[in-house]
Amino acid sequence: MNAAAKINARDYLEIYQNPEAHRVSLKHLDLFIGDQAFQAGMNSILNTTLQIPPFKPMEEWVFENIELANNKSTRPGPMRLTVYQREVALAINDPNVRQIVVAKGVQTGYSKFIKALYAYTVSYLALNCAIVNSTKPDAERYYKDEIAPMYKEVMALKRLIRKPLKGDVHDTGYEQRFANGVNTYIRGAYTDDAFRSYTTWLNIGDEVDADGWQPRANSIGSKIEMFRDRGTDFYDSKLLIGGTMGLTHRSIINAQFLLGDQRRLHVDCPHCGTQQELRWGQKKDANGKRPEYGFRWEINEGGFVVPGSTHYQCDSEEKCRITQEEKYAVH
Ligand SMILES: [Zn+2]
Repeated sequence: MNAAAKINARDYLEIYQNPEAHRVSLKHLDLFIGDQAFQAGMNSILNTTLQIPPFKPMEEWVFENIELANNKSTRPGPMRLTVYQREVALAINDPNVRQIVVAKGVQTGYSKFIKALYAYTVSYLALNCAIVNSTKPDAERYYKDEIAPMYKEVMALKRLIRKPLKGDVHDTGYEQRFANGVNTYIRGAYTDDAFRSYTTWLNIGDEVDADGWQPRANSIGSKIEMFRDRGTDFYDSKLLIGGTMGLTHRSIINAQFLLGDQRRLHVDCPHCGTQQELRWGQKKDANGKRPEYGFRWEINEGGFVVPGSTHYQCDSEEKCRITQEEKYAVH
């Protein structure tokens, strides 16, 4: 007979109160062995499992959590931030920085950076985030092409996808609610409701010099101000705006860039170590000569870039050639 299974709490109380009647001695109850096992167990995890893991800056988290697929990247494998992206990532993790303005060139991986930042903010920082593109169709395209695939590919995000129960709010391309309590919003700046009724720690504006971001005749204040206000519930909220700079006189990016410390990207050449500003270097002088530094590539007869010919020419006596593969080694 399995006595243990039949003894309930009331029986224990009875035994405890009348040990004589039940011929048991509570004096023999010795917890020493159990206590020893417990202490040993605690000691073994004291310096591992029970420690709060060190904070992961974005660069490290992205490397560990985002895997670039073969068909989507020239450099498959764990995602590594390039030299431009790394600087923005450092500013994201710097509590003293509240606004970051990126005046970018074309094809610098800004969109890829934003989606990685979105994944980091939602799953690691567990904070609300909004991404505002220029127009509603832009926002839809960005959601479908960049954000939605991550819900399958990035495990850290995938495991936060809720299975809505009956009566729960369903996710849309514009709003998502994650299992860790994070909400995200994707909007087009052109529409009136783009900057209404949500509260977000990180506010990301993309292609901010595109038409959708220009103030409209009947609107109150600038869209950047309205967007910044989304973060007022957080003492350390962040606004990241970026895009290719448009015409200077109406450029929102330029105006915002001038408000900041106007950092320019300086890099050390991996060959000779010369520190220099990374510049496009295409502008010819009065004699039709291009500067000695800058991005260089060869074009074939068909008008296409010769594979492997793209490189950066170092601004030093040596004129070192920094190749595409070396760009991750540039700091
Ligand atoms: Zn060099």
